Amino acid sequence: MNKIIKTAYIFIVFFIFQQLPSAAEVNIYSARKEALIKPLLVKFSEKTGIEVNLITGKADTFIKRLEIEGKNTPADILLTVDAARLVRAKEKGLFQEINSEVLNKTIPERLRDINNHWFGLSLRSRVIVFSPERVEAEDLTDYMSLSDTKWRGRICVRSSSNIYNQSLVASMIVHYGIDETEIWAKSLVKNFARQPKGGDRDQIKAVAIGVCDIALVNNYYLAGMLDSGQEDEVSSAMKTKLFWPGQDKYGAHINISGVGVTKHSKNKKRAIQLLEYLVTNEAQEWYSNVNYEYSVNPKIKNTGVLERWGAFVSDNINLSLLGKHNSDAVLLMDRAGWK
Ligand code: FE
Repeated sequence: MNKIIKTAYIFIVFFIFQQLPSAAEVNIYSARKEALIKPLLVKFSEKTGIEVNLITGKADTFIKRLEIEGKNTPADILLTVDAARLVRAKEKGLFQEINSEVLNKTIPERLRDINNHWFGLSLRSRVIVFSPERVEAEDLTDYMSLSDTKWRGRICVRSSSNIYNQSLVASMIVHYGIDETEIWAKSLVKNFARQPKGGDRDQIKAVAIGVCDIALVNNYYLAGMLDSGQEDEVSSAMKTKLFWPGQDKYGAHINISGVGVTKHSKNKKRAIQLLEYLVTNEAQEWYSNVNYEYSVNPKIKNTGVLERWGAFVSDNINLSLLGKHNSDAVLLMDRAGWK
């Protein structure tokens, strides 16, 4: 008899748990470092009482993981950098369409997916950093002109496996076509001061110590070094200057950090709530103040280093094109000998 009561009790407890609403939570797979997103998530939790669980890792690993997990994935949101990766996740059917007036109104069309599967949350530009001691700013114009023989052996840039470079080349394909971009890439490679190695910060440091005179980097690395408070980083960054490429043409190459709600999200409503929070003025100002990225909302004013750098002309191609031309870009860089 005791055994029957015990079994019934367990069964009833189990049944009650089944009926209870799940805890208010949102689970994120994030390819951004924790420090670059966590403070915003904490603010969101404080405001809404929704718990946000963050798992950080590599974008490509998360894309694979979502594919393998399928319906069983605990993730509601995939957060990553670079439009090409978001396009890849969409093409693999990992996101779902999100109809949010807030997101559609705040984020310009070219910074979100045509079917609303992904949304840009912050902007970054791939800029030229140069040594003012060895380079006249007047000699710089746009990305295309970096293939000029006057830059032979003077340029540093990281490897072609890096998605920032792949997206820059994809944008060149959009503007110039494959053939012209390939001729450019071949000459650019001849202008490298060394085999590509290291991250964007390493390229800035290489300019500072005279390994090269010019580097291609994302704007927030330079801003972050200038503001780091670390003597070596600050002094390296101070030995360089930023140049906005293509200001008299189509502008500087732009990319995003962005986000999509997973196809099998179990907390879709709360996930959308979080996305909508991330485009509020408060969150967008944080991106600019803390991460040195630009807001996707053109009404948000820049502060600090970004304000000092001033306004610039940015390439206004639809960012889905970076994903569309990614494999062409990768193959082209390989043919050009860009290691
Ligand atoms: Fe980065």
